[in-house]
Amino acid sequence: GSATLIKDLDKELKKHSLSKEVEVIRTGCFGLCELGPVVIVYPEGTFYSRVTSEDIAELVEEHLVKGRVLTRLVYHETIGDNKTISINDIGFFKSQERIALKNCGIIDPENIDEYLAYDGYKALQKVLLEMEPQEVIDTIKGAGLRGRGGAGFPTGMKWQFTKNAQGDSKYVACNADEGDPGAFMDRSVLEGDPHALIEAMTIAGYAIGANEGYVYVRAEYPIAVKRLAIAINQARDYGLLGDNILDSGFNFTLDIRLGSGAFVCGEETALLNSIEGKRGEPRPRPPFPANKGLFGKPTVLNNVETFANIPSIIRNGSDWYSNIGTEKSKGTKVFALGGKINNTGLLEIPMGTTLREIVYEIGGGIPNGKAFKAAQTGGPSGGCIPSEHLDTPIDYDSLIQIGSMMGSGGLIVMDEDNCMVDIARFFLDFTCDESCGKCPPCRIGTKRMLEILEDICAGKGKKGDIERLESLAIGIKSSSLCGLGQTAPNPVLSTIRYFRDEYEAHINEKR
Ligand code: SF4
Repeated sequence: GSATLIKDLDKELKKHSLSKEVEVIRTGCFGLCELGPVVIVYPEGTFYSRVTSEDIAELVEEHLVKGRVLTRLVYHETIGDNKTISINDIGFFKSQERIALKNCGIIDPENIDEYLAYDGYKALQKVLLEMEPQEVIDTIKGAGLRGRGGAGFPTGMKWQFTKNAQGDSKYVACNADEGDPGAFMDRSVLEGDPHALIEAMTIAGYAIGANEGYVYVRAEYPIAVKRLAIAINQARDYGLLGDNILDSGFNFTLDIRLGSGAFVCGEETALLNSIEGKRGEPRPRPPFPANKGLFGKPTVLNNVETFANIPSIIRNGSDWYSNIGTEKSKGTKVFALGGKINNTGLLEIPMGTTLREIVYEIGGGIPNGKAFKAAQTGGPSGGCIPSEHLDTPIDYDSLIQIGSMMGSGGLIVMDEDNCMVDIARFFLDFTCDESCGKCPPCRIGTKRMLEILEDICAGKGKKGDIERLESLAIGIKSSSLCGLGQTAPNPVLSTIRYFRDEYEAHINEKR
């Protein structure tokens, strides 16, 4: 409803002859989706939530004409005694640390001047005019940044391998093909801060010796695609993309390629095939993209969130970044919080924050006083975390230890009413449908697993089904060609691990 609100606001400001004094700025997602549409009045930062067209006349009259806060629309959690509060005082934001999302919900993503005013392109300037390519890579290595797309591979090492690889040309590619159910982290960065991605990819190009880059983005994200295209044109017009950037002698171009909805194209080698115009099927690895990637040339491929951290790391230094997070998982992670939770939305927390803090402090707890049952991280590749692990710190290694994984950042909360067998069936149905069919363990094995799960959910489960599921899962994980098949059984394995009694109840009680 925000597009309508903007028109209403413009009309009302005109009526009060305030159009020149008050500027209405359209931003990207500010995170707390649950309370949208949101209007924030600056400079004081008064935060109005769930604003409707009917509220606009009163909001303009009270706040902008008479200078009084319209308390009935201020978010109730922090209302106090008619106190005007900034969004940073709201519970949802207090425990967050925003690096990748730092400009989202703050700047107008279609205006490069606003990005520049928030230190935009300073990192690129520093890199091109003051640093050698190896220094850039050493800074990223020192920061300890790991890939935010799922596997958590050290970004600096990936850049180093690509820099060291032999090739007459090299490429930088960005994975913006975010397909996990319930995940919208990359979408929000693209919609809210597209210049951060452009700046980061150009820095990566300089570091590894590439002059061309591609952003592979889902066609289902039309606003992201539009804003990214606008940002690329603006960067070109400002001399920040193209030939001889900032008179440094370095050239870099950036193009957009649209994905067409295949989940497997989020797998790096399938994505590269798709950019090349081939069928989006994974390739065997090795060779890895760092040696033989796009068009057979050395290629750095990172996802949007990984790139979004780069400008801040360059500006603030590797020590600044590596002091955030845990020993082996540095920095922050963006999560899309959804499911049975009061504050659905997008959040960015330091690595090491516990699941309990996310669910109860940032997320505001479970609706209707219900009990927390589990949280699913890692989307269809991940696993369910039960209540006994609520105090587990969220980092790459801790999540793997308890049978889940970081994944790209979808975090879905389930309450006491959710059936965990049905949750496993839902995710397996998704991966089975999205299997590209290239290799039999994934193509046939996930189908067989799904049939067993459907029988169990329909009250037709048989003795030995749980063991059959486990045996199939182990076989599929160990023999599938790509990450999709290798991780597809995870939700089933983790729900059997923690909620075996629910499987047994379905089978024994035929329900
Ligand atoms: Fe395709 Fe699945 Fe094999 Fe991956 S594991 S190549 S998605 S069939």
